[in-house]
Amino acid sequence: MPTDTGQITMLRINEDRLLTDLRELAQIGATADGGVDRQALTANDIAAREWYRRKIAAAGLDYAMDGAGNQSAILLSDPPSAKRILAGSHLDSVPNGGRYDGSLGVLVAFEALRTLKDAGITPPVTLEAVNFTDEESAIMGLMGSKAVVGQLTMADFERSRVDVDELIRRFSAAGISRESMLAATRDDVLAWVELHIEQGTRLEDSDVDIGVVDAIVGIRSIHVTFRGEAAHAGAKPMALRRDALWGAATFALRAREHVMRHYSPGVCNVGKISAKPGAFNIVPAEVYCALEFRHGSEPEMDQMQADLIGMLEACAAEFRLSVTYDATPPVISASMSETVMDAIERAADKLELSHRRMLSFAGHDTQNVATIAPAAMYFVPSVKGISHNPKELTSDADCVNGANLMLHTLLGLCEGQS
Ligand SMILES: [Zn+2]
Repeated sequence: MPTDTGQITMLRINEDRLLTDLRELAQIGATADGGVDRQALTANDIAAREWYRRKIAAAGLDYAMDGAGNQSAILLSDPPSAKRILAGSHLDSVPNGGRYDGSLGVLVAFEALRTLKDAGITPPVTLEAVNFTDEESAIMGLMGSKAVVGQLTMADFERSRVDVDELIRRFSAAGISRESMLAATRDDVLAWVELHIEQGTRLEDSDVDIGVVDAIVGIRSIHVTFRGEAAHAGAKPMALRRDALWGAATFALRAREHVMRHYSPGVCNVGKISAKPGAFNIVPAEVYCALEFRHGSEPEMDQMQADLIGMLEACAAEFRLSVTYDATPPVISASMSETVMDAIERAADKLELSHRRMLSFAGHDTQNVATIAPAAMYFVPSVKGISHNPKELTSDADCVNGANLMLHTLLGLCEGQS
């Protein structure tokens, strides 16, 4: 890198180029109401991938695609370093999604690399701007990053959301296969950083520019069944009823209070509830509840789980019910790297962008990359928090802030290496 730190400090991304790219990309798979539909490895997603490949070539950056279909724009160090600093997100979308989710994260990383190249800066570490395959679960979700960190198995393809013929057809359209996906593991990642839209209103509500994610929440899901006794809803005296719904309802309200009081910003949800036999005139004998809770810390999650289970049993006892519960495999929370968060915060200070730390309540590729390398991510504001919706919006100014922050975060991470 040049020794003129003044020149580097003043370096800014090309705003028009970034915003033009964002609009151009939004035309690929555009829906009538202003959103995009680019489900992973469908024709629309393939078109977006081809668009990105051509943009990379036009920018004079190197291009690579790994066996998982993850695409990279590459700015080589001289000599090319053994390890690389990666940044990016995903170009695929949910059905009828918005134009910022994922796309902005790829484009800001790409724009940062173009800016460095235009300025004649050869970084001390090779940099990549990555588009991860199938983040949004059209196939299985977080697939490309899962492949890179070696967590993908043949069994995952059997659990895919598309049947095997469709899977093979989509993979071959992208020039990959199940075998190549399983061989896409990387061990050359020095650090990872991702920009994403917030998908919530915490930044907007507090009028802060940047949310530095300190953890991505873990998710635990438990099937719960309360059992009491069916009875005549008229003839059975209320004091003698063993109404399974009374236990479930009491639990849902107590869990709400307890989690708000003791585990904030952790959250819990009873997302489904169904009573059997299920009639106006029968006291519910059996009630099923789908219980989910999220938190950024595994020890806190363990405590939360113990508390909630204790509460299930207490509610059952109070109404003379029995209760059983069955946990599904958890999603483990991911703590972000202090080194990378620090690089983001120092760059934000340099750019005079306000920032605060926050949890991510949604899953992102970053949680996979965090298992093999120091990783962190940051949010830019989402207008009204609208997400996975054609009305999703991040202001041009916030897109530009996010891109300049990516540029200076990468420079800061490079500095730590030279
Ligand atoms: Zn996303």
